[in-house]
Amino acid sequence: MRRDFMSDADFCLSFPGLDRAEPDREGMPLLHILLASPRGFCAGVRRAIDAVRSALRVHGAPVYVRRPIVHNLAVVRALEAEGAVFVEELDEVPEGGVVILSAHGVAPAIAHEARRRRLVAYDAVCPLVAKVHREVERHHRSGRHVVLVGHAGHPEIVGTLGHLPEGAATLIRGAGDVAALPFAADAPLGLAVQTTYSVDEAAAVAAALAGRFSDVAQPSSADICYATTNRQEAVRAIALRADAVIVAGEHFSSNACRLAEVAAAAGCRHVQLVADPSGIDWELVPAGGTLGIGAAASTPESAVGAILAALGERHVIRLETVRSAVETTEFRRVAVG
Ligand code: SF4
Repeated sequence: MRRDFMSDADFCLSFPGLDRAEPDREGMPLLHILLASPRGFCAGVRRAIDAVRSALRVHGAPVYVRRPIVHNLAVVRALEAEGAVFVEELDEVPEGGVVILSAHGVAPAIAHEARRRRLVAYDAVCPLVAKVHREVERHHRSGRHVVLVGHAGHPEIVGTLGHLPEGAATLIRGAGDVAALPFAADAPLGLAVQTTYSVDEAAAVAAALAGRFSDVAQPSSADICYATTNRQEAVRAIALRADAVIVAGEHFSSNACRLAEVAAAAGCRHVQLVADPSGIDWELVPAGGTLGIGAAASTPESAVGAILAALGERHVIRLETVRSAVETTEFRRVAVG
């Protein structure tokens, strides 16, 4: 059975009473909710999910997906219910099978392996991740050692490093690692950043590199994607006004974890990262106060709706959307068929 993820418009239709105090609920504590906007699915996530569904329509089930298509369990489970089969590696896909490569991107060796095994492979890499792949290749071709900022083991980082020969890049986590880089002050370096990284940390790394090295090529345009930037800004805006913040997302989503960090860095002392209402720590929900809610780029709007519905069972909700940016980005669909 197909389970759709709610759009903004669906959400408003599903929760028509949330923006006003209902008289028959007198006695319940009031909760002022600041709903961050933008939040939830970005263009890259929508495109990757669409690729799986298109492949299911065109080829029929099963359609194999290498690794979680996006870092959200509800999305994975919903696609499984429609006929997707998630695998860790391509050798789990039978010869001739249809496979989707995830939005996080893969090393060229994975695409070669798919061809060698005669798989029908569709690459759902986000175009903004692919841009970073081209950027590190360009740094390498021009003789620069790549300084890559990101989380070791994250699939995007594994894929990006896979576009370079062994030893051509050094992975660091933050500005604190710059002092230990073993290069001469005039060594030619090229900076690249994981698309879902902290905007503030990436800026700190760029400044630290510029302070220690004289020849650092910066990204041609910001590596951190528009969706990450906008969601971090949106969460910062609500965190500055809220007594507590809930970030809707998974603990294994880089995007979601960064949002929780941003809320804490903005001075909010009660920040929770929850995938659904079962994860809410009710002690941290400020009855009579103000609660901010944001959502990671991999979080379906249905998760935000479920959290709001759970809050609405215990409080009279006054809902305020705090819009810090308007997003219009759409990517060309993955050509399936
Ligand atoms: S978070 Fe950014 S890089 Fe990742 S899929 Fe979305 S738009 Fe692409």
